[in-house]
Amino acid sequence: MTLVFATNNLNKLKEVQGLIPKHIQLLSLQDIGCTEDVPETQNTIAGNAIQKAEYIKTHYGYDCFADDTGLEVAALDNEPGVYSARYAGAQRDSNDNMDLLLKNLKDKSNRQAQFKTVIALQLNGELKTFTGICKGEITKEKHGEHGFGYDPIFKAKGYTKTFAEISLDEKNQIGHRGKAVNLLVKYLINL
Ligand code: IMP
Repeated sequence: MTLVFATNNLNKLKEVQGLIPKHIQLLSLQDIGCTEDVPETQNTIAGNAIQKAEYIKTHYGYDCFADDTGLEVAALDNEPGVYSARYAGAQRDSNDNMDLLLKNLKDKSNRQAQFKTVIALQLNGELKTFTGICKGEITKEKHGEHGFGYDPIFKAKGYTKTFAEISLDEKNQIGHRGKAVNLLVKYLINL
């Protein structure tokens, strides 16, 4: 079986390649000659994941899966959510995004938040989605150097350290993306 993972993020590709059963050949967007920006114009995380997977099937003919992730903050009506990458503007700068989030949460006592990853799989004419959630809270300040995005201000439930202070292995075990990928892998193994 050949499946396209609709991402240009080589770290994600490598990470997922290591988890997918060996009989499944994983192709990147580069491998199939897709150099344009794959549209993600929906207003939900799941909507964007589905849009990306369907785009590849329609335009390139490959079975495919795509992921989309967002940080949902309870006291901000689940913002930034689907807009996580560009919360503070089109520059998509993680520090600007974190600064804005800390500012918007300044007077709020409820710091609960969750990361949500949705993977959409377009396979043999069927669409399936797999959702991974990691619950936690937003810290008052940035801590740690690892990871990316909002990692320095997110502490998973039961943890005293932020995602930027724990190892990647540990983050993958408890994290949203790891959970969604595990559900996808379980599904593919049982086909
Ligand atoms: P994407 O859909 O994986 O590109 O994620 C969208 C945005 O969510 C990213 O640009 C980051 O700002 C944020 N994000 C996604 N995953 C993580 C994570 O694991 N840690 C911190 N921030 C993340």
